[in-house]
Amino acid sequence: MELTEEQLALQRAFASFFATEATPERVRAAEPLGFDGLLWSRVQELGVPSMGLAAGLVDLAVVAETAGRHLAPVPVVESLVATRLLGTADGTLATISLRPAGRLVPAGAVADAVVALDGEELVVVRSPPPRTAPANLGSAPVADRDLGAGERTVLVRGEEAHERFERALDEWRVLTAAALVGLAQGALDVGVAYVKERRQFGVPIGSFQAVQHRLGDAATAVDGGRLLAYEAARSAEPVLASMAYVFAAEAAQEAAAASLHVHGGYGFMLEYDIQLFFRRAKAWSLAAGDPRLEHQRIAALGFLPEDPPDPRRDEVRAFVAEHLTHEVVERVHATGTVHDWGFHRALAAKGWLQGEGRDPVVVDELTRAGAPMDGSGTSMLVARTLELVGTDAQRAEVVPRIHGGEILVCLGYSEPDSGSDVAAAKTRARRDGDEWVVSGQKMFTTLAHESAYVFLLTRTNTGVAKHRGLTMFLVPMDSPGIEVRAMGSLGGERTNVTFYNDVRVPDTARVGEVDGGWDVMAVALAFERQPAANGETRRLLERAVGWARENGTIDDPVARDRLARVAVDVEVGRLLGARLASRATQPALPIVEGSMAKLFTSEAFQRAASDLLDLLGAEGVLQHGEADAPVEGWIEHAHRHAAVMTIYAGASEIQRSIIAERGLGLPRSR
Ligand SMILES: Cc1cc2nc3c(=O)[nH]c(=O)nc-3n(C[C@H](O)[C@H](O)[C@H](O)COP(=O)(O)OP(=O)(O)OC[C@H]3O[C@@H](n4cnc5c(N)ncnc54)[C@H](O)[C@@H]3O)c2cc1C
Repeated sequence: MELTEEQLALQRAFASFFATEATPERVRAAEPLGFDGLLWSRVQELGVPSMGLAAGLVDLAVVAETAGRHLAPVPVVESLVATRLLGTADGTLATISLRPAGRLVPAGAVADAVVALDGEELVVVRSPPPRTAPANLGSAPVADRDLGAGERTVLVRGEEAHERFERALDEWRVLTAAALVGLAQGALDVGVAYVKERRQFGVPIGSFQAVQHRLGDAATAVDGGRLLAYEAARSAEPVLASMAYVFAAEAAQEAAAASLHVHGGYGFMLEYDIQLFFRRAKAWSLAAGDPRLEHQRIAALGFLPEDPPDPRRDEVRAFVAEHLTHEVVERVHATGTVHDWGFHRALAAKGWLQGEGRDPVVVDELTRAGAPMDGSGTSMLVARTLELVGTDAQRAEVVPRIHGGEILVCLGYSEPDSGSDVAAAKTRARRDGDEWVVSGQKMFTTLAHESAYVFLLTRTNTGVAKHRGLTMFLVPMDSPGIEVRAMGSLGGERTNVTFYNDVRVPDTARVGEVDGGWDVMAVALAFERQPAANGETRRLLERAVGWARENGTIDDPVARDRLARVAVDVEVGRLLGARLASRATQPALPIVEGSMAKLFTSEAFQRAASDLLDLLGAEGVLQHGEADAPVEGWIEHAHRHAAVMTIYAGASEIQRSIIAERGLGLPRSR
């Protein structure tokens, strides 16, 4: 899913070309027509639009994205699409009429040829362009074109005309999505640069969290939009083209609006560049009509693309069919303990508590199926951490038992007074010869009542900065002095308070250096940030679609809109997760990628649960177990449960700060 070497070279070449040739001054100078003839000649010399005939859509998306990044006042996307539709490039500027009757044709003010679907005919109309455009939001060279005037050639008629035009529209959607992602990135860069410089209250405004978080959200949307645009370019699936276009349109508007806002009053002054982005973000999104109407098409196309064939998917599905029985599901629901020993051991027998069990396809299928994975989740992340920073003895004794499904390990990080500020832990570990004596209290020690060990964060030094006085231990849960007390939750899950009353642990239970616990935590926390909620969102979507199809609600455009919106989020979440998984094999931990995946998928799950519950209407409140509860009450349950996904494994605000500070390079706010 990454770009090839050739594509990266293409990206570098066009990025540097547009950076020098499509400067903000040139963009301004091209207004109000929105066309720079000199730049167009240079772009032609570089092979646009003729490269459209030979190159694949991904290469073209690279060009469109770089053009969008610099708001290049040349019709790169339209000319490429029209050239592909015509199958020839003769040096004249061709464009495509997106809407019927030649109304407000993009690049219509400057194009010599317009390709259009005119009734049952796909035609090309050659006539002199007006060279003037009506005043418009994006300063774009749009114009009405008379499809009956000039030299009109019919390319093809009937069904084939419709099919070819629809295919071209999909290409336009994909390339416009890429251009919008470029625009969004450009707007974000302008905003980020501004907030690093601008000072108020004696500090750069980029250190204010309200500013950081809005830009962090925009950055996440830009990355998600980019992944989706390239996925759509790669796959040529119509549903992905629609998704990419509608998501990129929103991302561009969000990034441009956020960057405009952080400029304060100056953003409204014409000499600042951000207004150039803000106007075009909306205008480009509207070229084919209300982008939100794509949701109706996404619904008509079945909401989600087919999963690419993968034998592992079939294997996981067969496994789920055998082991995730009705009894397991009901028991987990009734007890709130999101773990089942039978199911867990079956996972171990497949080897899925290690190695392949971390494969995104396997994880995706298991979470989609609603498998109880809390115990395997925490245990596997501890195993991975021990593999990296544990002792030989821990790797030899504990890790194989985790992989073998014999034991669980729970996480003892949070305390009554330290949650997000996890490094402020007070649970004390005091050295006593070869042993340590631990005393304190942990909150939310989920699965402590089923675990053989707790991965415990303790304070070993109070005389240094808080991050430098922590030590990690792997403490056996049967150690004398540990007490576990159950706590119920809004979502029905059971968690625990755990007390440590002078618990004696050998020094061999220590993980990492004395006072070096924060380094261990950094690894463990990075492993914990996962897009786990995405499978749950997908499951909700499938259930809600099934419900809507069964009772005819699916024909209601409002219902289709709600469902399609969730589908787009599911696809973006899947791609953010796949990116995280692909980076996980590289030496540097994918910190920002993990935060983006966790933030986006958990918030999308929360939005989906609430929105799909609305779809069910008044009966939606009926809970699992009530005979007439729609979707067996699972959406009601998800609505209660989803909120916590935005809290544990690092609350959304913490993820936004990580994205802003480590991803965008903004000054620290805490
Ligand atoms: C069901 C459940 C299971 C859990 N399981 C475990 C577990 O197994 N092991 C474990 O150790 N912990 C577990 N947790 C704890 C979880 O990790 C914490 O709840 C989480 O880190 C938030 O801490 P807190 O609850 O103390 O909230 P706080 O940190 O007090 O946060 C409250 C609010 O303030 C915001 N906030 C806090 N700091 C900042 C900041 N710097 N900037 C902006 N906003 C901020 C937060 O985003 C949040 O909205 C679990 C929690 C729940 C609810």
